[in-house]
Amino acid sequence: MRFTIDGDRLLSEIDALASFSDAAAPAVTRIVFTPTDLKARVWVKARCEEAGLTVRQDGVGNIFARWNGSDPTAPVVGTGSHIDAIPNAGKFDGVVGVLGGLEAIRGLRQSGFRPKHSIELLIFASEEPTRFGIGCLGSRLLSGTLTPDAARKLTDNDGATLDQVRARANLSGDLEQVKLPSGYYEAFIELHIEQGPRLEREQNPLGIVTKIAAPASLRVLIEGSGGHAGGVLMPDRGDALCAAAEMILSIESAARSSGATDTVATVGICEVFPGAVNSIPSRVRLSVDVRDTDLQRRDLVIRTIESTCDSISAKRKVSIHSELLNADAPADCAPAVVEALSQSCRAHQLSFLPMVSRAYHDSLFMSRIAPVAMLFIPCRNGYSHRPDEYAAPEDIVRGTLILAETLAALSR
Ligand SMILES: [Zn+2]
Repeated sequence: MRFTIDGDRLLSEIDALASFSDAAAPAVTRIVFTPTDLKARVWVKARCEEAGLTVRQDGVGNIFARWNGSDPTAPVVGTGSHIDAIPNAGKFDGVVGVLGGLEAIRGLRQSGFRPKHSIELLIFASEEPTRFGIGCLGSRLLSGTLTPDAARKLTDNDGATLDQVRARANLSGDLEQVKLPSGYYEAFIELHIEQGPRLEREQNPLGIVTKIAAPASLRVLIEGSGGHAGGVLMPDRGDALCAAAEMILSIESAARSSGATDTVATVGICEVFPGAVNSIPSRVRLSVDVRDTDLQRRDLVIRTIESTCDSISAKRKVSIHSELLNADAPADCAPAVVEALSQSCRAHQLSFLPMVSRAYHDSLFMSRIAPVAMLFIPCRNGYSHRPDEYAAPEDIVRGTLILAETLAALSR
């Protein structure tokens, strides 16, 4: 059976969705549940309804658009991604998986295909951590990785609780009902831009993800003794920023010495107090991100960082406290779904690269409750989370076609 993907429609919808933004084009800023995001959500739901899908929304704002199969009791074949965007982002991250998923379903419907399993597009709420400080809020709740009680304790950057934000966004559904029952999914596939340079570099049009690396994040607070930059002589100092500098380099070397290319560690934030040119830094806060495809190896890096805190604090006369904010386990993709994607590629004589997703995605959490795989398409220079993020039209259409083919194979 041949499916046709309407590339023009898909690309014009990607452009249309990018116009829902709080930043000037080409940048996209669409923080979850802001007025701009709410308008974008209404627009996407309307496109799904226009396509003949039945739309429902759960208590945290995950949107499900369903095409009922001939056996509505059979487990669902799902696809989807997110539409929220960090400040000053591009227009493809997440969106390709949502609008590509929608176009794949439309292509199947228009070809006359009739699935046995229902096919459902899922638009995850709050994938980006921008608002609540935690990524993948929607899929964490769907998969039961985060309990409703823990979610209710989250506050946004303005101090509003999740319940307050939900009320303002008119999300009246019960958080307790968000978790999906076990056996809900036959399979789940997320189409996404790679957010790395490998496919482009190896001139491979498609990547099939076999493992998803998982992040852990730490906050390291260093407290020294401040003072006048002229008055306090070097032997008497407890400079928090100098200690932070040693910490940052030792975090880098902890990741480098793991012996595996999959181990990465990053200090992305360094806040210095009081931040005056003539004042010795008294306090520094570091935000640290550690990732790996192997849980033991990643946790070893975290333990190394923690012990480094003790040695540097003793050496530099400062106090250093590290706090583990979050540590998700990595995931393996389901061999059967990986194989279904591979077969679709082979059917279209397209080469593909088995690969690791180094960014984390909602699929990481969906893998706890569903057989999951991800399909990557190249993005220029590997750029993502920036306004010049770009995926070529032919790559988007190709990925969407393979997605459609695979959804059909899995839902027969
Ligand atoms: Zn994304």
